Amino acid sequence: MKHPKSLHPANADELAAIALETGAEVPRGALRYPSESGGWRLGDLDLSEHLDKYRDQQLVVIIGSLGRAGAERVICGICGFVLNDVGGCPRCKLVTEEAAKELKERQEAEEALFREIEEILEQAGNTMSQG
Ligand SMILES: [Zn+2]
Repeated sequence: MKHPKSLHPANADELAAIALETGAEVPRGALRYPSESGGWRLGDLDLSEHLDKYRDQQLVVIIGSLGRAGAERVICGICGFVLNDVGGCPRCKLVTEEAAKELKERQEAEEALFREIEEILEQAGNTMSQG
């Protein structure tokens, strides 16, 4: 796919300023896909959701590239940790592993307690039947 021609930044600023003066919206940012809702994202804007308020209206759309956007910083949606690449969050993984370990230890402690109770009941039963 051929890359679109980039605008000169000064021309882009001028164009944006004029558009803003007319009352037009000028969203600006890196265009990414997908957004949280599965559509396009422009900067922090969920473009699909945003465009929904313009549904069934006649629009004029001016699109200008300012060149390739840098690599995206991926942030964990659960804890906010900045990830180096898309994939599992090491911080959340650690928390999950620690919680699992704690649950397992608690379960083992409960099982040991139940075994102890069973043994006591068994001994009490033996004592009763013998007596
Ligand atoms: Zn996380």
